Amino acid sequence: MRQIVLNRPGEFLSRDIAVPQPGENQAIVRVHRIGVCGTDLHAFAGRQPYFEYPRVLGHELGVEIVAIPENQQGLVAGDHCALEPYLSCGSCTACRQGKTNCCTDLQVLGVHADGGMQPYITAPVHLLHKSTKLSLDQLALVETLGIGFHAVERAAFQEEESVLVIGAGPIGLSVIQFARAAGAHVRVLDVSPQRRQFVADLGIEVLSEPDDELADIVFDATGNKLSMEASLERVAPGGRLVFVGLILDKVAIDDPLFHRREVTLLASRNSANAFPRIVQMIEEGSIDTAPWITHRLELAAVPDEFPALPQQEGLIKAVIEVDSDDGSTG
Ligand SMILES: [Zn+2]
Ligand SMILES: [Zn+2]
Repeated sequence: MRQIVLNRPGEFLSRDIAVPQPGENQAIVRVHRIGVCGTDLHAFAGRQPYFEYPRVLGHELGVEIVAIPENQQGLVAGDHCALEPYLSCGSCTACRQGKTNCCTDLQVLGVHADGGMQPYITAPVHLLHKSTKLSLDQLALVETLGIGFHAVERAAFQEEESVLVIGAGPIGLSVIQFARAAGAHVRVLDVSPQRRQFVADLGIEVLSEPDDELADIVFDATGNKLSMEASLERVAPGGRLVFVGLILDKVAIDDPLFHRREVTLLASRNSANAFPRIVQMIEEGSIDTAPWITHRLELAAVPDEFPALPQQEGLIKAVIEVDSDDGSTG
């Protein structure tokens, strides 16, 4: 089969390798759809400092089971699944508390280990989440939606609380969707006119700059140092501030303001135990995936077309389709 490898910043290679063999309690799956996100774009640009090359990217995966050992979930060959890409150790303190996203030895497929930019991949059975209703596109979106799901869960939203989401990229968009699904009145702040228009078209109140109205819960989804520092000013007394986006830098907190308002500051990382619930919410229609996918490309075209993706007009989410030809073992 042919896999696409990010050989070093700015360079993808296509190479022939043998179809992988599953280990114990592992399934072999056919990759059909791969969502592209900021992590992949940063890795390509060489802006992920701790990233190791070469690496097969792809952590947002809609897959089909090819072979699987007998299992309690009743999964069988042919099932369509979202593949949860988080390999946690299961034995560290965080894992034992169910906070597998904070595992001290966390390996994310497509980031710390090779991911899905190949026709077949092996995966532990418990990381496969089946749906008979979702499309392969929707299954590939579950991981990215998990970021918003987990952030809203971290914030412990209560009825009547006001919510402000700063930054309307894909991460902000996933936060917006789960906050609305929880019943929140959501306002959004973004500096980009194009993104503001996108959010306004979804029927959401959107601001180009902060006003005087403070929010009980503020989510910063910008991954921008200045925005993260200024986001504290937008939190109402007694409120919560959730850093969803991250940066590889220090963030300064205005301590007198932090204390005066007695703000709770929360980080949110990936998701834990969220995939089954997200699949269910999309199935029920409480999460709408229609606005998400704005661009498509084929796996074989990644070396040629991926570099221009960040400049594409209106890009929210690009999805890579893995063609059946890529799967030939010859
Ligand atoms: Zn992602
Ligand atoms: Zn662990």
